[in-house]
Amino acid sequence: MATIDTCNFKGSKVIVRVDFNVPLDENGNITDDTRIRGALPTLRKVLADGGALIIMSHMGKPKGKVNPKFSLSQIKEAVSEKLGTAVQFAPDCAKAADAAAALKEGEVLLLENLRFYPEEEGKPVGIDKEDPAYEAAKKEMKARQKEFAATLASYADYYINDAFGTAHRKHASTAVIADSFDAEHKMLGYLMEKEVEAVHNVLDNIQRPFTAIMGGSKVSTKIGIIENLMDKVDNLILCGGMTYTFAKANGGNVGKSICEEDKLDLALDIIAKAKANGVNLVLATDCVAADDFSNDANTQIVPATAIPEGWEGLDAGPEARKAFAAAIENAKTILWNGPAGVFEMENFTAGSRAIAEAIAKATAQGAFSLIGGGDSVACINKFGMADKVSYISTGGGALLEAIEGKTLPGVAAIEG
Ligand code: AMP
Repeated sequence: MATIDTCNFKGSKVIVRVDFNVPLDENGNITDDTRIRGALPTLRKVLADGGALIIMSHMGKPKGKVNPKFSLSQIKEAVSEKLGTAVQFAPDCAKAADAAAALKEGEVLLLENLRFYPEEEGKPVGIDKEDPAYEAAKKEMKARQKEFAATLASYADYYINDAFGTAHRKHASTAVIADSFDAEHKMLGYLMEKEVEAVHNVLDNIQRPFTAIMGGSKVSTKIGIIENLMDKVDNLILCGGMTYTFAKANGGNVGKSICEEDKLDLALDIIAKAKANGVNLVLATDCVAADDFSNDANTQIVPATAIPEGWEGLDAGPEARKAFAAAIENAKTILWNGPAGVFEMENFTAGSRAIAEAIAKATAQGAFSLIGGGDSVACINKFGMADKVSYISTGGGALLEAIEGKTLPGVAAIEG
């Protein structure tokens, strides 16, 4: 199998799927260019070898229709500035054969938003799933998706996928296109390589002890991950809003804390599974309770199972923070997804901060730490600790599916 490092792209045309789905303000200015910066090493390698680049991406959710609000022309100049070279623009991604053919060594062509075509996502539009004609429409759309992917593939000699954010989708540009290239002409980009390696480190190449920290608001959205990790981790910290579902399941009073009443059995099941697997399950014993969901609320430290009526747990308490830190500091592999409290409000950041600090300490002692899922990334950035962890994933949904143990179509299409 080819890798980006073992390939020399001189004299070749290379089509690269990137994730340039960057946030724009109302004037079309980029408000966060992290995703563009993330793809630069791959794009630069192709240009440095003397290849010609065809860059493709989606932006937003235009739902298969042309919509200037989501036009990639808005970011052409920014891409050009970052690459340090002129960027041509193809206003129709499915009619760019001539522009691609005319590209010379070192030249760059940016294709218009792939999702202006419904074929990109491959889902039939304007027909309800219940409609008897839906299955036929789906089949027809899948055939059109193949054709669309083949058109994109025809522009280039090589295909590189560097869009981890969409690796969990079987779209024309993320997976189907790979069928048009043999193993020597398709590969992961540098960003994808790093993401795949990071996931490998926490699922297969585990150095022990392994501590996973799952937080956020609800247990129901994390259950797939918790189940997949149950036979891999040594320590499992479950924190954030889900604390109170466990506290209630254990017979506690949780006041008006966030609590999934219909998941109490699930919580007990998780506790039993942890015990059966010899996993050290760490739940918050105390919490910072507030009398309002507000940064200005009155607060008190109470046991997580004895929250007074009218109060709600919004952060981990001091005893819990110590227990979290103890389970993290000696770990050699760490995975963190989801905050330990309502970190968006300054007075409820202490739990998440304690976790971040313990991860930084363990990382400094040689642990591998992976932070992923939107909110824990936001947390680490808020605390200015991004450079103190091993790897911060760029792919929210894709990372979560990967650590749930699901195969990512974007990766499988290349690695087989
Ligand atoms: P999720 O998207 O499930 O990862 O949840 C992230 C959100 O959980 C963040 O916006 C946090 O503010 C929220 N969260 C964390 N702890 C609590 C809590 N104790 N009560 C309510 N929300 C919480």
